[in-house]
Amino acid sequence: MDFSRVKTPCYIIDEDKLEENCKILQSVMEKTNCKILLAQKAYSCYGTYGTIAKYLSGTTASGVNEAKLGRYEMGIPYGKETHVFKPAYTDEEMDELVELCDHIVFNNLRQWKRFRDKIQKARKKGKDIQCGIRINPGYSEIETPIYNPCFAGSRLGTTLSEFEKDIQYNPDILEGVDGLHFHTMCEQNSDVLERTLPFVEKMFGKYLKDMKWINFGGGHHVTRGDYDVEKLVECISHMQKTYDVEVYLEPGEAVALNAGYLVSTVLDTGYHDINYAILDTSAACHMPDVLEMPYRPMIIGSGNPNEKDYTYRLGGPTCLAGDIIGDYSFDEPLREGDRLVFCDMAIYSMVKNNTFNGMNLPDILIHNEKYGFREYKTFGYEDFRRRV
Ligand SMILES: *Cc1c(COP(=O)(O)O)cnc(C)c1O
Repeated sequence: MDFSRVKTPCYIIDEDKLEENCKILQSVMEKTNCKILLAQKAYSCYGTYGTIAKYLSGTTASGVNEAKLGRYEMGIPYGKETHVFKPAYTDEEMDELVELCDHIVFNNLRQWKRFRDKIQKARKKGKDIQCGIRINPGYSEIETPIYNPCFAGSRLGTTLSEFEKDIQYNPDILEGVDGLHFHTMCEQNSDVLERTLPFVEKMFGKYLKDMKWINFGGGHHVTRGDYDVEKLVECISHMQKTYDVEVYLEPGEAVALNAGYLVSTVLDTGYHDINYAILDTSAACHMPDVLEMPYRPMIIGSGNPNEKDYTYRLGGPTCLAGDIIGDYSFDEPLREGDRLVFCDMAIYSMVKNNTFNGMNLPDILIHNEKYGFREYKTFGYEDFRRRV
């Protein structure tokens, strides 16, 4: 891929890598008969949904807009499933979702009760809508609290005591519920899933016996080099055999892991206690997870601070003091006009971009071996203006 030819800053989606990831996920589907969906909150470049739809079963959404994208860009054109989960729905949203979705997952039994009539009405009209409840099994190995749905006081998913209290007050409330859903993982291997399932089973196993499916949520880093796919297959098979249920997975990251770049140019360099370089791309606007997660993206040809001869603190061109991408070292001094290429930039990047400081959104290109680069999106002043 020739990074010197593109106008910066821009994202490049590596469609071949995307396809490679999807093939790995498809192999899990073939071995187990499970279904795997793309979680669009991580990656929503619908220009590549045709490629993804060759392998996966559909999309999941975090609300109406993503559900629409999933339905119109993958569901209808490729005959795939559209799922949604949101912690709380409005009446207006539910009116749209019953038209858009095959699966609707509720955060607890009260939310289900609130919308049950709407669902039953849609079902009577011939819509095959499956409904599920997100459970909180109280077990997660995620150490960063803002990503841990099981921390004390979490609003995500229903705990067993809450679930059973709701049943106690409404004995027929489970009528019409088809499945259970949990999402407790983030960038983790299948050993974490293996340790999580006993909690799910011990608490909710007796209810699962009457369900049609269970959704293992996202956070499964299936396409990472050291991921133990065999253990995932065992976990899926175990649940299928024990409870006679269909199994869904809805990874986001794993679908587009390492399938994108952010190409930037050095605008200026200087020295204030440390060598610094200002780039034409911003952590705050174009890679917000660098500040939020936080994490350190890889740059092609760079090393850790002081590993190579020339160390720089890389920052964005905004006025935010903390718009720092990180400290990196290079073999040669950085010069104005040099290109820096950030890796693994397809996920949680374009979907989280913002125009703070009036920063432009980077253009998006799609690249594959066969056709080379194709321009997918360009952005300018109007995109900023529309939002403020
Ligand atoms: C975030 C999320 C996903 C996708 O998670 P990844 O870490 O990107 O795999 C799937 N399902 C739910 C409910 C989520 O909140």
